[in-house]
Amino acid sequence: MLYFDHAATTPPYEEVVETVAELMRRHYGNPSSLHKYGEEAGKLLKRAREVCAAALDAKPGEIIFTSGATESNNLAVKGAVLQYASRGRHLVTAATEHPSVFESCRQLEQMGYELTVLPVDEQGHVSADQVAGAIRKDTVLVSIMHVNNETGRMQPIHEIGPRLKAEYPKVLFHVDGVQSFGKLPVKLKDWGIDLFSLSGHKIRGPKGTGLLYVREGIKLLPLLTGGGQEFDLRAGTENVPLIVGLAKAVRMAEEGHKQFAASTAEWRDMILEEVRQIPSLVLNSGAEAPHIVNFSHPGMKAEVMLHTLEQLGAAVSTKSACSSRLAEPSRVLIAMGRSGSAASGGIRISFGDSHSAEEVKQLALAIQEMMKRLKSVERWGR
Ligand code: PMP
Repeated sequence: MLYFDHAATTPPYEEVVETVAELMRRHYGNPSSLHKYGEEAGKLLKRAREVCAAALDAKPGEIIFTSGATESNNLAVKGAVLQYASRGRHLVTAATEHPSVFESCRQLEQMGYELTVLPVDEQGHVSADQVAGAIRKDTVLVSIMHVNNETGRMQPIHEIGPRLKAEYPKVLFHVDGVQSFGKLPVKLKDWGIDLFSLSGHKIRGPKGTGLLYVREGIKLLPLLTGGGQEFDLRAGTENVPLIVGLAKAVRMAEEGHKQFAASTAEWRDMILEEVRQIPSLVLNSGAEAPHIVNFSHPGMKAEVMLHTLEQLGAAVSTKSACSSRLAEPSRVLIAMGRSGSAASGGIRISFGDSHSAEEVKQLALAIQEMMKRLKSVERWGR
């Protein structure tokens, strides 16, 4: 079975697995302990923070290790809005954000904060004008993702951030970079990003790891309080082996992003071309993020297509992994104006860096064969 679901999760690098296992055996000290074991663990933690900071062109003190991007996004959105409540009670996000941002914003709304959800166009984009137009005197935070996890559509972060910094320097700008880091260049400073989330398991690192970049000088209300770890922003004994594994993956992802984009974009274009040849399929993605293709067949349930492709040897996804067990149509595709039936039929193919052109050809053939089989099912159903 060929794995084309890298936006859901990726196989960890062998080097990461080895490092984590080795550290779990040998370096089990608690970095807060004062003896030699603690000191060793503390050194490893410090080094991991430096490695992540270097990959993001940030300072070590700006890196907060978390349990993954869900936590990073929750900490960024709720931590910022609650910390700066005296500045105002308004926040801005887009209709296609990942649930960990979207539901954090909704939760704040339920607590009495005011939320503006920006609509997207048919391609799933918001513009810098739209964002700037939504800012009010009492806006505290804007949270916009870089690459959408279902469609691979990219938001113009390089325009939104500088515009906010020029016109509304007090408004904090958070970017969910889970699907862009390691795939595309990310420029935190040039793009005026204050808070940036990434996840270990999307870049061949360990699951249950992630980080939040918090620009120097910004305070957040911690979601987890306790022993004061992670500069008082995230209490709990640090999982040093996993954090070191994350740092390895972060370094490799940053170093390899050009190569990743070059090879996956070629495969994405092969599959985009294949889908364009089939008139009954609607494309929901374009030549944007290099690793994601999304299409629907209005009238055909995504699960039927997924299982047909699975029988043909290709593992793909419906919507995102986090919401694929929910029966509703995709919120992201609905926001892009797709009909209920097309929005229920989204199939996501996402590439990693370890495929061969031969595998991608097999996927293209599997899509052709799927369409043949589904046509005969449709005829039979009439
Ligand atoms: N944001 C985006 C864009 C994602 O794709 C994901 C993973 N589906 C997350 C956030 C959450 O990441 P994690 O699995 O590390 O909690």
